[in-house]
Amino acid sequence: MSVSTVAADQTVCSDSSGALPVLGRDVTVPLVTGGEVTYAALDYAASAPALQRVWDDVAAYAPYYGSVHRGAGYLSQLSTDLFENARRTVEEFLDCRAGDQVVFTRSTTDSLNLLAAALPADCQVFVFETEHHASLLPWRDARVTYLNAPRTPGEAVDTLERALAARDPYGPALVCVTGASNVTGELWPVRELATAAHAHGARIVLDAAQLAPHHPVSVQDLDVDWVAFSGHKLYAPFGSGVLAGRSDWLREAEPYLAGGGASRRVTRREDGGVDVEWHDSAARHEAGSPNVIGAYAIASACKALTEEGFDRLIAREQHLIRTVRAGLAEVPEVRVLSLFGDDAPRVGVISFVVEGWNSSHFAAALSAEYGIGVRDGLFCAHPLVRTLLGSAPEAQGECGAPEAAPGEKSLNAIRVSFGAGT
Ligand code: PLP
Repeated sequence: MSVSTVAADQTVCSDSSGALPVLGRDVTVPLVTGGEVTYAALDYAASAPALQRVWDDVAAYAPYYGSVHRGAGYLSQLSTDLFENARRTVEEFLDCRAGDQVVFTRSTTDSLNLLAAALPADCQVFVFETEHHASLLPWRDARVTYLNAPRTPGEAVDTLERALAARDPYGPALVCVTGASNVTGELWPVRELATAAHAHGARIVLDAAQLAPHHPVSVQDLDVDWVAFSGHKLYAPFGSGVLAGRSDWLREAEPYLAGGGASRRVTRREDGGVDVEWHDSAARHEAGSPNVIGAYAIASACKALTEEGFDRLIAREQHLIRTVRAGLAEVPEVRVLSLFGDDAPRVGVISFVVEGWNSSHFAAALSAEYGIGVRDGLFCAHPLVRTLLGSAPEAQGECGAPEAAPGEKSLNAIRVSFGAGT
């Protein structure tokens, strides 16, 4: 088997008719074999290319750039309006409840760490071991229960039900779950998990980093308490993210960062110390000069996806998923990784191993010889990928891992990921 057998799938992405207009579609890259080729970006799960429209919106705003919540001048007021309007756009995009807060953060990782820092005392946290490290790790200062990987969506709900039934029923509890896996692309039964959580007096936060770019996310329909996502996976540039949801825990917590913008009043005490009265609004957790360009870009992406219509975007992406999976199925050495089985609903994220190949070398060859950009490794979800590969925890298997000896299991995998911009 050669890399070219699998690389033949590049043709599935060469037809861009009906795709979202994204930047970089015509970028050419050099090949080690000589010459150049149009780059095939198949790493959307890491970062999606920005939409042309988002870029244009940001460029149109650039001359009016001003400080937010800090200036009397016209441009400052305009920037403050754009920033606050961006918050409302995100609120609508996520179909938030009245009274929910939208906090602008740096990323999904930042959003989940913010929530972790705002947990009430003695909060118990329940999280599946299959989570991305951004949703697996922030809770380590709390009382965390790590749940074993389920093999069906129903088993996920049963596992959570059992764990919650055994918990201290009087204290606060939080469930954290991802909506779509960054490894298998499989959708998780978020609505059912939310019902289970609430039935046991727990709350739930949805990691929508991989879901929001592919599916509408309604806080109300899914009945989740918080949602987190990142701009750079949602066709906006890097550096901005969102935590949206219930305001009470956020309002009662110490500010995530201490500083200007988060504080309403600061006074010197007679004993020489300082008293602070913090804002109750989202500003409480947005200390420092906010990333107005990032917030504006996220809002622009939210509007663009809504106007394009998720039905059309999903139809195009599902067609690409079927095409890529059918192409991979023709190569006997390829094993596609799946937790819930081949028929599980999924987004455009497909991980696989190629028998007899080191995944890192394979991914490098796809780039060097064909201009196809994929990811290799354990995708910041080490426990999940090791479960799917059947490899031992002591196997390192990150990028650049040694080739598995003949007959041994692969230590890492290859991931192709795409979306409606592909
Ligand atoms: N959650 C999931 C499911 C992800 O796939 C990722 C990134 O790949 C993250 C969280 C973290 O996103 P970010 O790096 O933008 O913080």
